[in-house]
Amino acid sequence: MSSIPFLDLRAAYLELKEEIDAAVARVMDNGWYILGEEVEAFEAEYAAYCEAQYAVGVGNGLDALRLALLAMDVGPGDEVIVPSNTYIATWLAVSQCGATPVPVEPDPATYNIDPQRIEAAITPRTKVILPVHLYGQPADLDPILALARRHGLRVLEDAAQAHGARYKGKRIGAHSDAVAWSFYPGKNLGAMGDAGAVTTNDPELADCVRVLRNYGSRMKYQNEIMGWNSRLDPIQASILRVKLKYLDEWNLRRAAIANFYYCFFSGNQEIILPTILEWVQPAWHLFVVRCSRRDDLQKRLARIGIQTLIHYPIPPHLQPAYVNLEFQAGSFPISEQLAREVLSLPIGPHLDLIQLELLLEKFSA
Ligand SMILES: *Cc1c(COP(=O)(O)O)cnc(C)c1O
Repeated sequence: MSSIPFLDLRAAYLELKEEIDAAVARVMDNGWYILGEEVEAFEAEYAAYCEAQYAVGVGNGLDALRLALLAMDVGPGDEVIVPSNTYIATWLAVSQCGATPVPVEPDPATYNIDPQRIEAAITPRTKVILPVHLYGQPADLDPILALARRHGLRVLEDAAQAHGARYKGKRIGAHSDAVAWSFYPGKNLGAMGDAGAVTTNDPELADCVRVLRNYGSRMKYQNEIMGWNSRLDPIQASILRVKLKYLDEWNLRRAAIANFYYCFFSGNQEIILPTILEWVQPAWHLFVVRCSRRDDLQKRLARIGIQTLIHYPIPPHLQPAYVNLEFQAGSFPISEQLAREVLSLPIGPHLDLIQLELLLEKFSA
């Protein structure tokens, strides 16, 4: 084969086909199709994996963010500090609660929200700081948590790209008040459909998300609050239980590919490689390089059979969806420059490293 796709989801299924098929058959066979034992078992296993006390399975990553914000009592009139450089879901979750996303620029080295710029964005309306562990590298949490404590704010982490990552040796999962996860198929821990979860050490917050995801109900036909329908599907839970066992191994494969890229491109003057904080261990969801002639680099790689993607070509503040916030080109110049220069190289757990090396032999400046 003479080309490398950005991500091969079918290969992930084929590696675990027997186990996944058996898990799905088990759910089909037991006749229980909403919440129940399979969901509870995954929640317990995922909480343990994340070094968190509680995990609550929900319908997708956006709902994980939204329900966690609602559980923190975020609503109209409130502000939530978000990165200007993120996938739009982070912002949408805030808007869907009726609150306003207040963007803060990233550290140009790590691409994650710059803790030093957060304080200037805090107002009397600020309720939550929402850092994103972008591309799988944990944001610098300690200064963010200290700031939140000083100002009486809560912190919610968007960990949709960071399954298995560590911050100062401890797994992402409960450093802050709550952590939102997506198990979208392309994530490091991916279901075969939509799925998500919230992890936390706060029993009240866990309980609140649990009630919110299921019609505001703890007991059937008794509705304490106006809730939603966003439950983790037991079929997806059964698949996630299988894939969770392989997450560390598959993340190691990603790290090996990252290492290869660091070696291969070291000394290349036109490509800026990712900067990783000394005290974090990334999940390597994406391997994002920067290049001032990005589109040209993308074409050259395509020509030798290497498919790349751009995460993300348009920052949220320049999306038509957010014209109401009245930002313009130039409002967040660091994020805008990143949108022009970033390129994600393939890094999936089923990428053939030998084939990658062979194809890259044809890469030249
Ligand atoms: C994938 C993703 C989400 C949303 O997850 P869905 O399951 O697709 O709703 C949120 N934030 C970030 C940073 C993501 O990458």
